[in-house]
Amino acid sequence: MDDSAYAQARRELVADLQRRLDVDPAVFSAIEAVPRHAFAPDSQRARAYADRPLPIGHDQTISAPHMVAIMTDLLDLERGDRVFEVGTGCGYHAAVLAEIVGPGNVFTAEYVPELAEIAGERLDRHGYVVTVHAGDAREAFREEAPFAAASVTCAPSAGVPEPIVDRVEVGGRVVAPVDEESGGQRLVRLTVRDDGIEREDHGSVRFVPMR
Ligand code: SAH
Repeated sequence: MDDSAYAQARRELVADLQRRLDVDPAVFSAIEAVPRHAFAPDSQRARAYADRPLPIGHDQTISAPHMVAIMTDLLDLERGDRVFEVGTGCGYHAAVLAEIVGPGNVFTAEYVPELAEIAGERLDRHGYVVTVHAGDAREAFREEAPFAAASVTCAPSAGVPEPIVDRVEVGGRVVAPVDEESGGQRLVRLTVRDDGIEREDHGSVRFVPMR
């Protein structure tokens, strides 16, 4: 496939998502702008515009586009907001976030150094000014806090770790998959309030575990 075929496939994917999802139009524009195939491993490129998760190596996967759209919408971002992403993976979701909040406002941490390196290169090559930290997100970007929102793309086993929630300002949001005792996972949105954390449930999901 050449670039125009990829762009056509991407427009079709977005049209399909627009029929199925009720999210902010800015989220659809962001998904239409980011070349998902260019973030996928070579072997997965032809499949980049199906609404499916994709394997990215090191036993990790990137979420299906509809899940990226839903999570991004729940973060409720505006241009200029600073966002903390936990789990860079291939860098695709970070690019979608950067389309919305603008250059220099996305800070993303990736545990697997090789993935962090490849994602950093791809983001750079496609003109995204995103800061990538290689290592545990719990230790990342303390000096960059507070953030307007945190997007967690791996599932912590005992609730969202405190160091991540602590990096978000009052009124800010954390969107994360969390493990349930029954063995499943739920997507939750936490809103940080003066007097505690408000929690909303957004349904059953499946993400790789947080390490
Ligand atoms: N948002 C990514 C998808 C990432 S999959 C994308 O668009 O490609 C989840 C990622 O979280 C994996 O790459 C995994 O290595 C990473 N991860 C797991 N535990 C982590 C931790 N403690 N800190 C940072 N990243 C972590």
